[in-house]
Amino acid sequence: PLENTAKSLPTILELIDGFRASKALFVACKLKVFDHLKDKGSLNAVDVANEVGASLCGMERLLDACAALGLLEKTPQGYSNTDSANTYLTSDGKYSLHGYIIHSNEHLWPLFTNLEFAVKEGTRQNHRAFGKKTEDLFKDYYHSQEGKQRFMAAMHSIAHLTARDVATAFDLSQFKSACDLGGCTGALAHELVQIYPNLKITVFDLPEVIANTSYFQPSGQCTAPVTFISGDFFKDNLPEVDLYILSRVLHDWPDEKNHTLLSKIAAVCKPGCGILLAEMVLDDEKKTRSTALLQSLNMLVQTEGKERSGFEYRCLLEQHGFTNVKIRLTGNLLDVILCVKT
Ligand code: SAM
Repeated sequence: PLENTAKSLPTILELIDGFRASKALFVACKLKVFDHLKDKGSLNAVDVANEVGASLCGMERLLDACAALGLLEKTPQGYSNTDSANTYLTSDGKYSLHGYIIHSNEHLWPLFTNLEFAVKEGTRQNHRAFGKKTEDLFKDYYHSQEGKQRFMAAMHSIAHLTARDVATAFDLSQFKSACDLGGCTGALAHELVQIYPNLKITVFDLPEVIANTSYFQPSGQCTAPVTFISGDFFKDNLPEVDLYILSRVLHDWPDEKNHTLLSKIAAVCKPGCGILLAEMVLDDEKKTRSTALLQSLNMLVQTEGKERSGFEYRCLLEQHGFTNVKIRLTGNLLDVILCVKT
């Protein structure tokens, strides 16, 4: 009946508007509106427009939209940050998502504009979005210092936000050494040594990334040092450790590449040693987890990879002798899978 159909109308209207809300958030972050409002009490639109060098009529509408979306408070005295804007939208907070938002605006938005081509052609759209074709996904990211910094900041934002849930999803105390393959800035590694102070952990990533990690290291003394080594996990020897961590790595690649990587790990991994995956895990029927399913479209527009279900990860791992596959849905952006070599 029409009455039931009409119930879904607000959802549809919200989806139609979704891109406008995303872009309003992205622009406010890019113009550092939330940074300007931090610790300032209330500011009026003229002050904010002057601070960021924007027009008054444009800034007023942006601030009103942000207030209506729940990102700012609006009172007769002016605009101020909500608690969540202070935590997630300013650029310097521990749990800042600013890096990920800028990456979404500059990199993912142009790619998603070409989603129609990606769906029709079944391939990534970097050439259409950025006018250049390269064979290697990460060469695209790392071709300029600016692009590399932006990508690493984006990875760092999400890794920070999820690290505690990933690190505590399972008891990892039986592992004495670990290597975070594709561990980027080391955000997860630093969280792991907080929880397991005796764990010797190495972050393994491409030379361009390792050369740029110092910017992202925590200030102050941490419980144990994290070691960084550079290499290509498809070509170079892997360190021998008790636990291999792959966080948002398998989703970058098609099955063939993942088989290459997992067989290399299996070759150096001793019985009883394991693999810890951190990924958005799809439900086996691929019908309910919309954030993860949208992330799979995100992988389509820019990689040869995809998000996979728990069943699919289990199959990949078992083919390389990794069994006792356990899956924990964390409720955070990344879920965790642990398995051991038998
Ligand atoms: N693990 C981090 C996280 O979850 O935030 C970063 C995930 S990012 C999607 C994938 C990482 O794999 C990047 O840091 C990238 O540089 C690294 N990577 C890609 N290809 C690699 C290769 N052939 N050898 C080593 N690292 C690689």
